[in-house]
Amino acid sequence: MAVYKAEGVVLGRRALGEADRVVDLFTREFGRLRVKVKAVRRTTSRLAGRLEPFTHARLLLARGRALDVVAQVEVLDGYADLREDLRRLSYGWLVADLTLQLVPEAEPHPEVFALLVEALQLLREGDPVVAAGWYALRLFGELGYRPASGRCPSCGGEAGGDRWSPALGGFCCPRCSEADPGHLRLGGEAAGATRFLLQASAQEAGRLRLSERATGRVVAAVVAYAEARADRPLRAAKVLQALDR
Ligand SMILES: [Zn+2]
Repeated sequence: MAVYKAEGVVLGRRALGEADRVVDLFTREFGRLRVKVKAVRRTTSRLAGRLEPFTHARLLLARGRALDVVAQVEVLDGYADLREDLRRLSYGWLVADLTLQLVPEAEPHPEVFALLVEALQLLREGDPVVAAGWYALRLFGELGYRPASGRCPSCGGEAGGDRWSPALGGFCCPRCSEADPGHLRLGGEAAGATRFLLQASAQEAGRLRLSERATGRVVAAVVAYAEARADRPLRAAKVLQALDR
């Protein structure tokens, strides 16, 4: 049986059959992969508890007919602390959902993998809202649709204000924003933070301090932008709305 190694992060999982699980991974080598873990829901499984959400691990995988199968797991970081804090966990789901919805399966994106690992560290240590916003904005860039920030993507005019149009592709000029009923006014603080996060390193993002109102607007901006690219709603966004209530 052909086997191969990969380093990956668990983005999500669901039960399959009596005791198996399907796990969504993002790997350094192969990008997004969907794999099977056999009998993992039995308490006797030596893999039980090793592929919890956000776990960063080295894996040995065996080629399977429909799905490849996890043979061995060496946990590098289990991120248990991230799963124990509801707010961090919820923004972790947003990071996972963005990756699942926007990155096509089996396309290697090592730079996205590096961003994802940095985002998990930020989620754990910093403001989880800023962490998710930073990841989303940098992810858009890595995938080839970096939001416009200085020039209007529609007419090329000045777009230095706070008008954000997911449909047009980022910050846009006042005139073009009026033609898009879905545009958002972010306000000065959130607009400045969004422009900053577009080009910030993880360390720089970790030092950003924002008012609650502005963080909410940055999240709304990146969720709307991601949904316009994916052409469908993000499940994690609904969880965040419920959390805010
Ligand atoms: Zn314009």
